Amino acid sequence: MKNQLTDKEPAVNNSESLGIGRRDFFVTSAVVGAGVAGLLGPLSAQAAETSPKKSLGQGPYPTEGMAVYSATEPLKLLKFERRALGPKDVAIKLHYCGVCHSDIHHGHEDWRKETFPLVPGHELAGVVAAVGPSVNKFKVGDRVGVGCMVNSCRHCSMCAAGMEQYCENGAIFTYGAKDRDGTMTQGGYSTFNVVDEDFVIRVPNSIDLAEAGPLMCAGITVYSPLRHWGVGPGKKVGIVGLGGLGHMAVKIATAMGAAVTVITTSQNKAGDARKFGAKDVIVNPDSADLSKYKRSLDFILDTAPYKHKLDKLFPLLKQEATFCMVGAGRVAEPYEIGPFALLLARNSYAGSQIGGIRETQELVDFCALHKIRPEITKISMNGISDAWDKVVAKKARYRYVIDIATG
Ligand code: NAP
Ligand code: ZN
Ligand code: ZN
Repeated sequence: MKNQLTDKEPAVNNSESLGIGRRDFFVTSAVVGAGVAGLLGPLSAQAAETSPKKSLGQGPYPTEGMAVYSATEPLKLLKFERRALGPKDVAIKLHYCGVCHSDIHHGHEDWRKETFPLVPGHELAGVVAAVGPSVNKFKVGDRVGVGCMVNSCRHCSMCAAGMEQYCENGAIFTYGAKDRDGTMTQGGYSTFNVVDEDFVIRVPNSIDLAEAGPLMCAGITVYSPLRHWGVGPGKKVGIVGLGGLGHMAVKIATAMGAAVTVITTSQNKAGDARKFGAKDVIVNPDSADLSKYKRSLDFILDTAPYKHKLDKLFPLLKQEATFCMVGAGRVAEPYEIGPFALLLARNSYAGSQIGGIRETQELVDFCALHKIRPEITKISMNGISDAWDKVVAKKARYRYVIDIATG
């Protein structure tokens, strides 16, 4: 991807002043919220839906996004360009993007030092606006999504097995990753993206485009381990944390036929948990008496995003059962596991990362079939920083989705 300024924009390269050094990256008018209302230009989101057959041309595509410039400031406007179409590239006019807690971890540098400015967002949903000459899976007007990855090596054993997320040569993630041309990828808090067709997911007509984004990360991240560990009829499953991932996990595990117990730190989510399908709810596990749940669960999926106590949860697992962590806290605050936590019932502590492209399509089709919909609250581009604060404060119900057409 070329992160370059369009000719008509007044260039102010403030990368040096941010201490990140000059790169192939030009930044304009970094004013909080400025100019986002008119972001979509001639091909507005609505126009793309109503006249989908008209191709937009081969690019490059002027793009506007909301970027993190430092770990402590609100997001601000960034203007850049998406690359011209390669043979297998699909240009996507983005309509919506979900707000994942991983975006916040990146933005706050919880996991590593980031390269700023960084446009987060890996729950993209939009409409195909143009295709490269060798694209055969998509055509202009198709409704599509993109998740956490935009490329991988394609030839290692993991890629061959459809598990590109574990690519032995390193999957290229949707933002904050070095692309093949050496530029940094930028994510879905933006008006446009250009992605290789092999990493584009088809969105069935029965799924509202605004509700498609959260399937691309939250949905697949819980679906993959639920499938891998054989969740289905007759199984009892614990879901820790009723947030973006957690609420999808409750719905999906229920649709798979399992009996779900939600483990939450929020008393006021108990009603929702049951509405989403949970048979039981444990509130405040740290202080609650959990003795009646001892050795009752076949699998626990933990989605909580910061360091929390695990030792009280392991005894809930049946003999041989697995506790899978998908939540990813701060690297500076690693989890603690006591010496007897796992050995008393030969339990396993595991992790899981998103899902492969084939599996993501399978999850999207599974959600269409079972009418599983994420609970979303639409926000504008200008509302992202506020939404991040609310997510951290556990106030999201249950996924914020950016309506990219609104400023
Ligand atoms: P989210 O919407 O904020 O939900 C997380 C939930 O965890 C909260 O709603 C809350 O539920 C619970 N929680 C417990 N302790 C918390 C605390 N100290 N602060 C905030 N919430 C707390 O987040 P998400 O988007 O679902 O993401 C969850 C985690 O998964 C993040 O760490 C994210 O980076 C990670 N993730 C991993 C993958 C992967 O591939 N493994 C993919 C996507 C996301 P209750 O109120 O019910 O307690
Ligand atoms: Zn995510
Ligand atoms: Zn690979």
